[in-house]
Amino acid sequence: MTLTKVVLSERDMPTHWYNINADLPAAGVELPPVLHPITLQPVGPADLAPLFPMALIMQEVSTERYIEIPDEVQELYKLWRPTPLYRAVRWEEALDTPAKIYFKYEGTSPAGSHKPNTAIPQAYYNKQAGVTRLTTETGAGQWGSALSFACQAFGIECKVYMVRVSYDQKPYRRSLMQTWGATVVPSPSPQTAAGRAILAQDPNSSGSLGIAISEAVEEAVTREDTNYSLGSVLNHVLLHQTVVGQEVMKQMELIGADWPDVVIGCVGGGSNFGGFAFPFLRENLVNGRRSRIIAVEPLAAPSITRGVYAYDYGDTAKMAPVAKMHTLGHDFIPAPIHAGGLRYHGMAPQVSAVANAGLIEAQAVPQRAIFEAAMSFTRAEGILPAPEPSHAILAAMNEALACKESGESKTIVFNLCGHGHFDLGSYDAFLQGRLEDYEYPAEAIERSLANLPRV
Ligand SMILES: *Cc1c(COP(=O)(O)O)cnc(C)c1O
Repeated sequence: MTLTKVVLSERDMPTHWYNINADLPAAGVELPPVLHPITLQPVGPADLAPLFPMALIMQEVSTERYIEIPDEVQELYKLWRPTPLYRAVRWEEALDTPAKIYFKYEGTSPAGSHKPNTAIPQAYYNKQAGVTRLTTETGAGQWGSALSFACQAFGIECKVYMVRVSYDQKPYRRSLMQTWGATVVPSPSPQTAAGRAILAQDPNSSGSLGIAISEAVEEAVTREDTNYSLGSVLNHVLLHQTVVGQEVMKQMELIGADWPDVVIGCVGGGSNFGGFAFPFLRENLVNGRRSRIIAVEPLAAPSITRGVYAYDYGDTAKMAPVAKMHTLGHDFIPAPIHAGGLRYHGMAPQVSAVANAGLIEAQAVPQRAIFEAAMSFTRAEGILPAPEPSHAILAAMNEALACKESGESKTIVFNLCGHGHFDLGSYDAFLQGRLEDYEYPAEAIERSLANLPRV
């Protein structure tokens, strides 16, 4: 009988997060300092204190290799962790490939994605610091759901600025957030100066993550009782997600699987990829392993493959810190026809730095092909993937089909970071043939990049 699923016990959950900052210097990779958006000088902890609790600020700059996961966080993780690792036996058969394909499934969390892995500790550290309200932004609604759930767990108020186009297209994500007690407003909104400025220029603005971040940051900065919370990009967010990759290594070891030849994750802001891949990257850097590690992004928002590695603002209104990252420019607005998620203009500084150093690979893919890959996968494995991890599924499929050509039996592992039960509108568009490929125009990227801060 072939093994299809590896389930760890709660006793096998990682007790620490893995911090890649500890291993970058030896690999010759430097993580440039984050800058203040007005002075463009390196930020200190005091600059970030209006936004984040000190414990998270310290994690942001920590170089400690392993950081202990607080007991209360582990207790809440147990609501869905450890998550299963699958061998995609039926999909391997359907693809007629000699490759062995494994996937980690993070869709079993309450919010349906990997995002609660960081929402829970972020809410916890804010609660510890006496914060009673959190603001945030959400694009597709996954992060807003995760933070609403986490705030509910700790008795914190939650206000979510939801990108207008998603607010209209994904009403049930909004309902889920409201069910967990959050207040949800479409962004741009008239409730903030940043939102009003955008609406004055374009009353019908479909919004962007950059604009929604500006609104959430503005509210946090101007209210004493309120902090801000970000679901991706920052070091501490990627740190929290490393429970995922650590579990995968344990699960593969438990069944005596070969060490992976290829490790694949999709990238929006870089958190599921970092959390999944960095423990494997450490093995490449420190223990002589040779896995290829691949980040997959949409052609509609191709920050690593088409953007530049430069300092840029984290948000559209230039209120969030400035970081060196792969960016399409902070005034990037994704096309509303783009259904695949992964719409942020920048990329996590840690992912950007290792991509720039050539330690990982990046691919950009079109959206019709990701839905075709998702169909192939779900018809074999049953799980309906979100469009975002379908980017990883496409890359895994291409690797498996290359193995069919070459006759190699490579071991491929990817992160299925969320289910697609709230994305059936996009599946519907695909099934009815209404989904078009879209490539973000090079001229538009150039125009945005002209507005980068001069550092
Ligand atoms: C938010 C999200 C992403 C994109 O964000 P990352 O920080 O790049 O992981 C990808 N997949 C799912 C399921 C998400 O919820």
